[in-house]
Amino acid sequence: MLSEDHTKVLKYIVDNNEEYIMDSAKENGINNPDASVGVAKFLLGGSGNFSEMSVNQKHHYDNAIKPLIIDVPCDGMINEDGSCIGNGSIDEDSLLGAYIGQDMRCQHCVSTKDTWFANNP
Ligand SMILES: [Zn+2]
Repeated sequence: MLSEDHTKVLKYIVDNNEEYIMDSAKENGINNPDASVGVAKFLLGGSGNFSEMSVNQKHHYDNAIKPLIIDVPCDGMINEDGSCIGNGSIDEDSLLGAYIGQDMRCQHCVSTKDTWFANNP
């Protein structure tokens, strides 16, 4: 089952940025990304019930959808690899805001950078 937060994030992506799923699918070797979008819609329609998924649907979930909603990597405090000061991924609570603001950083990096600029004008 998807958590409530993950479901919200997935819904936002499907409603606004379907191409994220297509890109993720392509990056992870799926050759029919449209089907990945279909699986995302299926999950939203069935309140994220994995037990109703076929093996093929699960394959799309694991490779195209899951990387967008679970353990999404933080871009780092200064948008460079390795500059994340949190645990390296965006926490579930902050993920929807990260997609909406197109700022893919964890809350630690966001707040620290703001503080750093406040202290180093
Ligand atoms: Zn971070």
